[in-house]
Amino acid sequence: MEKKDGAYKAHVLVLPYPVQGHINPMVQFAKRLASKGFKVTVPTTIPATMSMHIGSGLVDVEPISDGQDSVSKNDNLAFLADGSGALTKLVEKYEDSSDPFCCLVYDSILPRALDVARQHGLYGVSFFTQSCAVDAIYYHVNQGHLTLPLATAAISLPGLPELGISDMPSFISEPKSYPSILEFVLNQFSNLEKADLVLVNTFDKLEDEAVRWMEGIWPVLTIGPTLPSMYLDMLIEGDKSYSLNLSNPNSDLCKKWLDARQTASVVYVSFGSVANLEADQMEELAWGLKESNNNFLWVVRESEHSKLPSKFLEETIEKGLVVTWCPQLEVLAHQAVGCFLTHCGWNSTLEALSLGVPMVAMPQWTDQPTNAKYVEEVWGVGLRVKVGEKGVVRREEMEKCIREVMEGERGKAIRRNASKWRELAKDVLAEGGSSDKNIEEFVARATFFNASRSPIFRAGGTESLGLTQNLA
Ligand code: UDP
Repeated sequence: MEKKDGAYKAHVLVLPYPVQGHINPMVQFAKRLASKGFKVTVPTTIPATMSMHIGSGLVDVEPISDGQDSVSKNDNLAFLADGSGALTKLVEKYEDSSDPFCCLVYDSILPRALDVARQHGLYGVSFFTQSCAVDAIYYHVNQGHLTLPLATAAISLPGLPELGISDMPSFISEPKSYPSILEFVLNQFSNLEKADLVLVNTFDKLEDEAVRWMEGIWPVLTIGPTLPSMYLDMLIEGDKSYSLNLSNPNSDLCKKWLDARQTASVVYVSFGSVANLEADQMEELAWGLKESNNNFLWVVRESEHSKLPSKFLEETIEKGLVVTWCPQLEVLAHQAVGCFLTHCGWNSTLEALSLGVPMVAMPQWTDQPTNAKYVEEVWGVGLRVKVGEKGVVRREEMEKCIREVMEGERGKAIRRNASKWRELAKDVLAEGGSSDKNIEEFVARATFFNASRSPIFRAGGTESLGLTQNLA
């Protein structure tokens, strides 16, 4: 039953950057807070004015202007530039209500949100939706420890394995490719030393040394993996899926199709919500999939459809299903799926790890090359395809990697590792696990802050609660 205003531990505002890969982890965290007695509001430029009920908790979704007085126009850059203006209005709207916000959890790539938190006396918490390894790389570039363009082929950074240039996030290996995005990712650190807490969607054992290194600089709490509770700890009743989907999944079709396939016989293929493959790459991928002779379920977004080779769908109708969007978690958890050919977006990577699904890694841009490096060499849960001439992965390479993961000797070791990581992911969110303890820590701090509304936490007073000292 819905609680009356004032009956909550505190009111938390959770602000994701409005793209699928940032909304999913932050809304999941919001749901976890709601299940622990918080009222949670998620502002978004996306035209969603719904509320999500999760067990006994409630997450409200509030439309917020993107700076152009249009909540239906999802203009991300305008949101970034003017997000703070709209945010201030939202915070002020609740100031005289019975449930004013006490805490702002903001996407780390919206650092100006921390100014709003400071101006309104809120507990200000930065949320990193990417891995600690990737966060660390951006930090070192921002600090000038790594200068661009990279001059050396082997890069050694504290807490990370040795990285080659092709293992670096694309904005770093090719700094001229997207200079404005490079600026955004480096800007995450512009005021981070002023944040009360830093949350990261990862877990301690997954990135042990990188987490330790980060903890030496900021008050870090790892709270991931942020999959719906049903897939891991089962502690939150009714938390079965991501709640905000920017596209409609073909759920029934996918389920029916997978149900009719044998155990571990399907290659699931998806490049997430943003990446676009060149037409020649799409063609190589299509024929590589066909030649591997496995069943496949391939997500090809509407905008990419025209790049499918002609006759491909007809020629593969027996073995393949192509959909425009699917319920990825349900697919990965289905027993028919034997491997995931993935772009290695951080969410997809965590989802595959958490569900024990072996991967064929085919990174495209942003943080994906670094995630792919970890998938293959650090966690041993997949193979990374080799890029051929003109930057295209050839069909033979695709076929070879798929076959090796599905049927080969390395595939056996990969499956054993994948099962191990699945168990570890479950453990960290079970009662007393590292992420569970960190979420409880956050709950205790936000509740205490709300009760006292004292500036104690904001001016380095965190020490009194035993929090890692801010060394920055
Ligand atoms: N996703 C989905 N259905 C699809 C493809 C992707 O639900 O057909 C979800 C996926 O589960 C993940 C998110 O979309 O949570 C994609 O995030 P990721 O970080 O993997 O990649 P991005 O889209 O940010 O590149």
